Amino acid sequence: MLEALPIKNQILSHPLLEEKGVELAIKRLDLVHPTVSGNKFFKLKYNLDQAVSMGFDTILTFGGAFSNHILATAQGAKASNLKSIGIIRGDEIRPLNPTLAQAVGLGMQLHFVDRATYRQKKEVEFINTLEEKFGQYYLIPEGGTNALAIQGTAEIMGIADRKFSHITTCIGTGGTFSGLYASLYLDQNLLGFSALKGEFIHQEINDLIERYQLSSSGAYKIFTNYHFGGYAKYTQELIDFIWWFYEKFEIVLDPIYTGKMAFGIWDLIQKDHFLPGSKILMIHSGGLQGNVGFTQLHKIPLPIL
Ligand SMILES: *Cc1c(COP(=O)(O)O)cnc(C)c1O
Repeated sequence: MLEALPIKNQILSHPLLEEKGVELAIKRLDLVHPTVSGNKFFKLKYNLDQAVSMGFDTILTFGGAFSNHILATAQGAKASNLKSIGIIRGDEIRPLNPTLAQAVGLGMQLHFVDRATYRQKKEVEFINTLEEKFGQYYLIPEGGTNALAIQGTAEIMGIADRKFSHITTCIGTGGTFSGLYASLYLDQNLLGFSALKGEFIHQEINDLIERYQLSSSGAYKIFTNYHFGGYAKYTQELIDFIWWFYEKFEIVLDPIYTGKMAFGIWDLIQKDHFLPGSKILMIHSGGLQGNVGFTQLHKIPLPIL
């Protein structure tokens, strides 16, 4: 069982916010748990409980070599006394990067598969070969989005968040967005910032809403123009923004998800997207572990927690 630390909304102050007459707060999910950071805490908690109550002793999941989800699963499984197996996309590179080294340190068994094999991650045949190899396990999909994950992310907001007119989140697989959507209070607007390039995400979100029969008291909008070239792509402008944000507010962002969202929000505030009087709550979905590996890989310094 994972226990959340108290989560606070930190109010940001800046002349631009005063000038535009908007309030901006940030929900610090990056501080929710000492090891299972951010939205992954909420996505994993009911899955881990379910695995334990169904009598499984092993969790198996999928991810890239820098995946927040992989590390969070390794940490969550350990905290729940479960073994964990990570199916990792791509060749094994030694020494392991900081994400995978930490996962192994937490007891996760890694299994590297080439990209073509990895693409079969949802196919029954491939899943069966994994079962032959590793025995019985509780399966969590790549990115961790399933019904129990959405149940978890529907708990990110609490009654005190009712006063906000706009809630903003990053979108990867859309599990976090879906849970937030289902838990909106009356007339709240959910703004999602896709970390991936492409318009497919609109359909993806529609599918999630339908498959899990989510209803909402509010409305949503998805922005697909703040991906900076695509998933895990970046520009100097994004890196500069992350440093600027850190220097102004002492809050660390990551270049894969939260940096892109925060950039988008700031841009929209500047462009008068928000009416005066708007109260915006930005969800900091964590993921800061990846900054160390990003800096090693690209030789680009980033703020680190
Ligand atoms: C995984 C992750 C996301 C994406 O969450 P989804 O539920 O897959 O949309 C967003 N932000 C961070 C920091 C993440 O690690």
